Amino acid sequence: MKLPFIDLKTQYELYKSEINREILGVLESTQFILGPQVTKLEENLANFTGSKHVISCSSGTDALLIALMALDIKAGDEVITTPFTFIATAEVIALVGAKAVFVDIDEETYNINPSLIEEAITEKTKAIIPVSLYGQCSNMDEINEIAKKHNLYVVEDGCQSLGATYKNRKSCNLSDIGCTSFFPSKPLGCYGDGGAIFTNDDLLAKKLRTISNHGQEERYKHKYIGINGRLDALQAVILNVKMKYFSDEIKAREEIGARYNRLLENSAVTPPKILKDRTSVFAQYSILSKNRTELISKLNQAGIPVAVHYPISLHQQEAFAPLGYKDGDFPVSEKISKEIMSLPMSPFLTKEQQDLVVNSIKEFA
Ligand SMILES: *Cc1c(COP(=O)(O)O)cnc(C)c1O
Repeated sequence: MKLPFIDLKTQYELYKSEINREILGVLESTQFILGPQVTKLEENLANFTGSKHVISCSSGTDALLIALMALDIKAGDEVITTPFTFIATAEVIALVGAKAVFVDIDEETYNINPSLIEEAITEKTKAIIPVSLYGQCSNMDEINEIAKKHNLYVVEDGCQSLGATYKNRKSCNLSDIGCTSFFPSKPLGCYGDGGAIFTNDDLLAKKLRTISNHGQEERYKHKYIGINGRLDALQAVILNVKMKYFSDEIKAREEIGARYNRLLENSAVTPPKILKDRTSVFAQYSILSKNRTELISKLNQAGIPVAVHYPISLHQQEAFAPLGYKDGDFPVSEKISKEIMSLPMSPFLTKEQQDLVVNSIKEFA
């Protein structure tokens, strides 16, 4: 049997009776959009992260978009972010009419390099969006410090890192706003699209919630231009069931990630480096290989699926051609995008499955 890349099937089989019952409950209730189950999810997430406010929404992308809208980021503004991320991070900057300004990444964590941020700040800069890539946070204290000095907002793209910690604090509760995604393959995934926004600021929370629902403060009274960015109840009940097991799943992810790291130490590939003051939820377990194409085909032959997150740096994407970047502008991002590859990862990956992956990598070398 082919090994699953992300084992959603095993997870569903484990929680099936509860999930099915909850889904039927929503169908019987006919409360499909927002409602008590969505409110319960927001409370669960607030307890989990320690954030004062949680606003659920329609996706991780919309979480980021609503965040930028609530911060009034618009045409003429600049937002600093990493070129080594999923396109959504920078896409939302363009969607509000602002300009994405890329800053190269750190060679060890693949996250934005804080020591390069200040030289990218101009009078137009309004915010920084660090991405907690593969489930490990950036140097958030350092980034918050720079932001404070220059009067900028920090929006953490925590779409891969819900459940990770940074200096014993939870990802998504480390800056002005945190955003996450419940896309099925994320560490906490629903069965469709979903996302959430986290903040400790009362006024901002109210504005985020209003914007996520057509800018509507009371029915048919619209204070802002907003979006249809609400979460539906089916997704909320699925997430409420999964939240009961999320801490155990995170522990399993950490153990599997640490075991992969031990087994791949001193091999031909470079395992991910997790810094001492933080934990990763390993949304992806990504290694570097100088012979990526050959290694991927060898692993695929052995029935092992592999993915590349991400093969092209955002400054080299056609969609961002108007930004005027060229090849060579972000050498670390470009180098990592050529060598990175993600191995099968889920809380349910068995030792035997892990050994098969590791042994196949070692045989190739
Ligand atoms: C998945 C992801 C997003 C977008 O989330 P969606 O729920 O798919 O819209 C944004 N940023 C990063 C880093 C992601 O991994």
